[in-house]
Amino acid sequence: MSDDVDPLVAGGPSSSDLPIPATALVVVAHPDDAELQAGATLAKWARSGCDVHHLVLTDGSLGTWDPEMDPSTLVALRHAEQRAAAAVLRRGAGDDTRVHLLDLPDGELTASIATRGLVAEVIRRVRPQVVVGHDPWKRYRLHPDHAAAGRLCVEGIVAARDPGFHREQIDAGLAPHRPDALLLFEPDVANHAESVTAQDHATRLDALECFTSQIATTHLYKVDVAGSEDPIASWRSRELDSMRAVGAWAGVELAEAFHLLSEQL
Ligand SMILES: [Zn+2]
Repeated sequence: MSDDVDPLVAGGPSSSDLPIPATALVVVAHPDDAELQAGATLAKWARSGCDVHHLVLTDGSLGTWDPEMDPSTLVALRHAEQRAAAAVLRRGAGDDTRVHLLDLPDGELTASIATRGLVAEVIRRVRPQVVVGHDPWKRYRLHPDHAAAGRLCVEGIVAARDPGFHREQIDAGLAPHRPDALLLFEPDVANHAESVTAQDHATRLDALECFTSQIATTHLYKVDVAGSEDPIASWRSRELDSMRAVGAWAGVELAEAFHLLSEQL
């Protein structure tokens, strides 16, 4: 989980394992954020019949260390990677209409009213019982897109549920929608755990391996590549260890940690 503040408070989570939602929407800044931060939970829900949708806010055009990489080539690659990863999480169920790509400029995301309206529109169309997103209140966060995406998710829910927001959508036939729960991943303070199986965890890693453009910069970052004969195996092992640590906190074998908001919705 997080580097700076341990979100796993003493005593374990206050709640575990939401009912499997019929429909879930994960709202993220970049391709791969959903799989990195909540992939095993999304895999669990999908195998239990949940219709999992992704809303990816930026185009991912800054996600490279290669100065020669053409941005439009990278964007097309990241679209394909995200669609492939989402299909792995969904185990082939559903189709690409479940991946909603806003293609806002990577690195420039702001919680503007216009962008909030775009998020609310997707929520009003998809009508998820559970929304999953970045924690906008996480301390010591560096990446501006993650903070902005968290705000857009939270404020997009308010705008989606209240009929006075973005009336042009209501006038166009989209009804307001109020989700039952919001799960914030990479939480500042975790209060909820989703237990997952080893298969859910493996599905998450398989989905993450679809992001071939990110393996060096994200997956293997902080893995001792030079000292490892098989860096991918080392990475998979490290990921399993962190999911076991959350599981120990939650009193199960493997889990992902969240901050659950439900009464506030
Ligand atoms: Zn990201």
